[in-house]
Amino acid sequence: MAVLALVEPGEELSLQALSLARDLGEPLHAFSVAEDPSLGAYGVRTLHVAEDERLSAYAPAAWAACLEQLIDELQPTAVVAAGTNRGNEVLSHLAARRDLPFAANCIAVGSDGTVTRVRWGGSLLEEARIHSDMKIISVAPHMVEATTVNGSGVEVQKTNVAVEEADLAVRVVEHAETPSAGISLAEAKVVVSGGRGVGSADGFGMLEELAGLLNAAVGCSRVVTMAGWRPHTDQVGQTGTKVAPDLYIACGISGATQHIAGCKGAKKILAINSDAEAPIFATADYAVVGDLAQVVPAITAELRKAQAS
Ligand SMILES: Cc1cc2nc3c(=O)[nH]c(=O)nc-3n(C[C@H](O)[C@H](O)[C@H](O)COP(=O)(O)OP(=O)(O)OC[C@H]3O[C@@H](n4cnc5c(N)ncnc54)[C@H](O)[C@@H]3O)c2cc1C
Repeated sequence: MAVLALVEPGEELSLQALSLARDLGEPLHAFSVAEDPSLGAYGVRTLHVAEDERLSAYAPAAWAACLEQLIDELQPTAVVAAGTNRGNEVLSHLAARRDLPFAANCIAVGSDGTVTRVRWGGSLLEEARIHSDMKIISVAPHMVEATTVNGSGVEVQKTNVAVEEADLAVRVVEHAETPSAGISLAEAKVVVSGGRGVGSADGFGMLEELAGLLNAAVGCSRVVTMAGWRPHTDQVGQTGTKVAPDLYIACGISGATQHIAGCKGAKKILAINSDAEAPIFATADYAVVGDLAQVVPAITAELRKAQAS
């Protein structure tokens, strides 16, 4: 039985969602607003691309309308998207339009309709059962590996959907680039992140210096964005960006579950905290108990020495 997936153009997390979608049935159909022949490697047999130019930018209700039309055509057993803000929003629209349940942030789906999903910012896994013939599911970010398959190419079909004006009431009409240059938080291999312990906006200067040497992005906790020391785009956590770098350096961050929800995808966590009892040490792979105002410049100095030699 067919499975339908929503693919957000250029979104790595959509590829992770395809890995889970593949296990739910075949053939795997995908809907996107951009052609992408490389999706064949992720098991997509048919890619349905919206023809309507107005849909090329993000329009949650209109994208849901496209999925609805494809559901009528394909009768899939499941509709899957990445558990991004956009993926969850589109599937919420879809579930409301169809009056069906929606299980967000799943990491596994059983053949009996049970799902395992990430709840409470990652602090617990819930087993639930979806009572509906067609499952609407989003896949928790960074919990399922984006794997490829050997297979034939993808067939691209243009989809013409009669989208109502009301469905276009909310849509992206303009992109304004943020002035910040450098590596994006979501894609950085190393993230140097600061919390309340950094003490001030100026205190982030030493974190930026360290990040510069490591080719890293700078992140922060919510306390920091609430204090106005850094913009919200730098926030890591449940209500910020979810990162999965090779190394996450947490400086003066206590390790609240809402923060850990955003960085637990990191391969290694180095925590620097003056309180030996700080909860972050339970999650960290490497712990430095000390004042970050001394520890961070000391690391920076050692790196400079190593790079000079
Ligand atoms: C619904 C909801 C959503 C949330 N979403 C997020 C989110 O997305 N991201 C997020 O981060 N938080 C989020 N929070 C907030 C979260 O609960 C914590 O309040 C926050 O993460 C704490 O930030 P912090 O670790 O910087 O500050 P604190 O908890 O105050 O910790 C500061 C740490 O710095 C250490 N420290 C102090 N001085 C030094 C020094 N000189 N050297 C070394 N260490 C020092 C202290 O020992 C302490 O451990 C959310 C909360 C709620 C309720």
